[in-house]
Amino acid sequence: MVYDIEMLRSFYSNFPKRVDVAREKIGRPMTLAEKILYAHLYDEKALRLFRRGDDYVNFRPDRVAMQDATAQMALLQFMNAGKKKSAVPATVHCDHLIQANIGAKADIETATKGNSEVYDFLKSVSDKFGIGFWKPGAGIIHQVVLENYAFPGGMMVGTDSHTPNAGGLGMVAIGVGGADAVDVMTGMEWELKMPKLIGVKLTGRLSGWASPKDVILKLAGILTVKGGTNAIIEYFGEGASSISATGKATICNMGAEVGATTSLFPYDLNMATYLRATGRDTVAAWADAIQDYLEADMEVRAQPDEYYDRVIVINLSELEPHINGPFTPDAATPISEFAAKVKANGYPRKMEVGLIGSCTNSSYQDLSRAASIARQAFEDKIPVASPLIINPGSEQIRYTAERDGIIGDFEKLGATIMANACGPCIGQWKRHTDDNTRKNSIVTSFNRNFAKRADGNPNTHAFVASPELTLALTIAGDLCFNPLTDTLKTEDGREVKLREPQGTDFPPKGFDVKDNGYLAPTGKDAEVKISPDSNRLQVLHPFAPWDENDLLEMPLLIKASGKCTTDHISMAGPWLRFRGHLENISDNMLMGAVNAFNGQTNAVLNQLNNTYEAVSAVAKQYKAKGISSIVVAEENYGEGSSREHAAMEPRFLNVKVILAKSFARIHETNLKKQGMLALTFADKDDYDKIRENDHISIIGLKEFTPGKPLTAIVLHADGTQESFPVNHTYNDLQIRWFKSGSALNMAHV
Ligand code: SF4
Repeated sequence: MVYDIEMLRSFYSNFPKRVDVAREKIGRPMTLAEKILYAHLYDEKALRLFRRGDDYVNFRPDRVAMQDATAQMALLQFMNAGKKKSAVPATVHCDHLIQANIGAKADIETATKGNSEVYDFLKSVSDKFGIGFWKPGAGIIHQVVLENYAFPGGMMVGTDSHTPNAGGLGMVAIGVGGADAVDVMTGMEWELKMPKLIGVKLTGRLSGWASPKDVILKLAGILTVKGGTNAIIEYFGEGASSISATGKATICNMGAEVGATTSLFPYDLNMATYLRATGRDTVAAWADAIQDYLEADMEVRAQPDEYYDRVIVINLSELEPHINGPFTPDAATPISEFAAKVKANGYPRKMEVGLIGSCTNSSYQDLSRAASIARQAFEDKIPVASPLIINPGSEQIRYTAERDGIIGDFEKLGATIMANACGPCIGQWKRHTDDNTRKNSIVTSFNRNFAKRADGNPNTHAFVASPELTLALTIAGDLCFNPLTDTLKTEDGREVKLREPQGTDFPPKGFDVKDNGYLAPTGKDAEVKISPDSNRLQVLHPFAPWDENDLLEMPLLIKASGKCTTDHISMAGPWLRFRGHLENISDNMLMGAVNAFNGQTNAVLNQLNNTYEAVSAVAKQYKAKGISSIVVAEENYGEGSSREHAAMEPRFLNVKVILAKSFARIHETNLKKQGMLALTFADKDDYDKIRENDHISIIGLKEFTPGKPLTAIVLHADGTQESFPVNHTYNDLQIRWFKSGSALNMAHV
C-alpha cells in the first residue's frame, strides 16, 4: 500500500463535522467545492463566509505531488526551510525528463543514464524527508496519483498545472509553483484567493464516437483559455454520473486549458468502482458512508443558478466529437465542420503522426476504445497511413493493457510504444522527420497544443482530440477524414466505414502490475550532496529584499505581443535538463516571446549598445551593470504550466516588473512568491504607449497597499514622458513577500 491509511481514516471521520460547522456558519447550502474548501481551512477559527474572487483564504491541503522537472526547484527550496520531514504525505514522480525517441526500454535506459545526477538528487531528498519516490518509467504524475492517492473530498496541491486531473475522483487538486508546495510541506498555511464557481450541468449520455474528452474540448470552446481563471469548475447532473471516473479525470485534467483553478465531480458509483478496482476498497467504503457530503447540497442541485457564479449546460446526447487547435486548445471545432475549417485555413491536410496517451487519456477505457478501432483496421486490412505513437500513463495501465492484448493491437498497426512518461507532450520528442521546415499536422490525445509544444517545431500544427478520433485520423492520414460519415479503402479495394469504438471502463481480469516503480522513503538522515561543478543542479541563494525605493527608469527588456505562455517564457524540451540549475536555465528566458517591435523571437534591443540580442543576453548585461529591467506583455501572461522557473528566471536576471494586460493565476502567484511585481494596465490601451527604447519607472512602492494602484511613468527616448495607473492584486502578506525579496525569505524572518 502506497497511501497513508491513517490520514484517510481521520479525514473521513472529521469531514462531515467540518462541513456541518461551515454550513451553519455561512448560513446557506453549499456546493461540493465549497464543502471541500471550507473543510480544509488552515485555521478553523477563521471560518466565515468568504467572498469568492476577492478574499484570500489560508488552506491546509492533505497532500503534495511533484513531477521531476518542477520537484528539483521545489525540493531545493524545501531544503532551505529547516524541516526534518514533509508535514503532509508527498510524492515525487520521474516523468518529464524521459525523451521519447526509439521506444520505452531504450529511452528509459538513456534517461536513467543521462539524468542520473538529477534522479539521485530527487531520490535522496525524497528518502531523507519522508517523500514517496516514483522512479523513471513508473508513470506520469497525474495517472499515478489517480491510481493511488486521489480521494473524494480531499485537497491536494501539485507542482504541475494538470494536477486537477484528481478531480475525477472528487478531489480539489490544484496546480501550484514549487514555493507553494514548500509551504504545504513545511506545514505552513497555503494561500489562495477564494475561487469563483462555474457549475457545468451535464445532461444526457455519451454515445458512439463521443467521449469524455469531447466534453472538455467543447467547454474549452465556450470558456476560451481565460474563461476559467480564478474559478473552480464543478460538474453535476445525471450526465456527470454516467461518465467513468477516468473520463471525469480527463475532463478535469483539461480544465487547466481554460485557466480554471481546478475542476471536480461529485462522488458517485463510478468513482467507488474505480477506487475498488485500484485496490482502495476501504477508501470507497468510507466515502460511501458520507456520500451526501461529497456532492453539492440538494438545494444547490435544484437551483444551481443561485449558488454558482455561472452555469453552463451541455447535453451529452447531442455532443459531437471535437478537434481543437492548432496552436491553442480552445479553438474547438465539431468533427462535422472540421474538414471545411482545414480547407478554409489552409492547414496542412496530411496528418503526419498520431499520438495517444499522456496523463490526459491513458485510461483502460481510452486505450480499449482506441484498440477496438485498431483491431478493425487490422482485420479489415485497412492500410494505416501515418505513424502511431503510444505513451501510456503508468506502468500499471501499460502492464494491464499488454496482458489484455491492447498494446498488441496497436503494435499490429506499427505503433511505437514509448515510455510511461510525458515525452512528446512536453517537447521531449525526438521526432524523426525528413524536413523540419515544412508545415505539417499532427493529432494527439494530449491536452495542450501551443506552438513547438510537442516537437519544438513552429511549423507543426498540433490538434487535440480523443484517443479514438486520433486513431481514426492516423489510419486515414487525412485531417479531413470524418469517421462518422466517411469510408476508407481496404487493401483489396473495398470501401469500409470504421465501426463505433467499443471499450470497457475496467479490465475484465482486473488491473495488474509486476513492478509499479514505487520506492517508499526510509527517512534516513543522509546528507544530500550537490556538486558545485554540476550544470544540472545548483544550490539556491535567497533573492535580495526590496531596497525600499521606487523602481526608477528601468529599460524595457521586451514588449511581448500576443500569446506569452510559460512555454514562451521558459521553454521545455531540451531545457528541461536545467530545471535544477537556475543560472543555466535562465539562458532560455523569454526566448519564445514575440518582440512586438520586430515580430521576431529572442531578438530585442539592447539599450546599452543599440544592437539586437537574445532576451537573456540583454538582461544579463543590464544585471552586470546593476540595472533592473521591465517586461511588458498582453493578455493571460504566463498561461499554461505551473513551472516557477518562468518567474524565477526574470527574478534571477534582475527583471523587477512584469506589466501585462492580464495574468494567468498560477503564474501571477509564482511571480509574487519570488518577490517580483506583477502589475496590470488599468487601461489596457496604455500597452500601446510603450515604445522600444523606453525607460519605465514604477512609483508608489513606499505606500504599497492592497487595492491601491501604483503609477507607471514612461520616459520616451525623445525626452517626452507619459504616466498612467497600474493595478495589482497583492494583499498584505504578498506585499511582505515582495518586501522580503520572496515568500521563502519570509519563512526565515
Ligand atoms: Fe506530462 Fe503532458 Fe501530462 Fe504535463 S500534460 S504531466 S507534460 S503528460
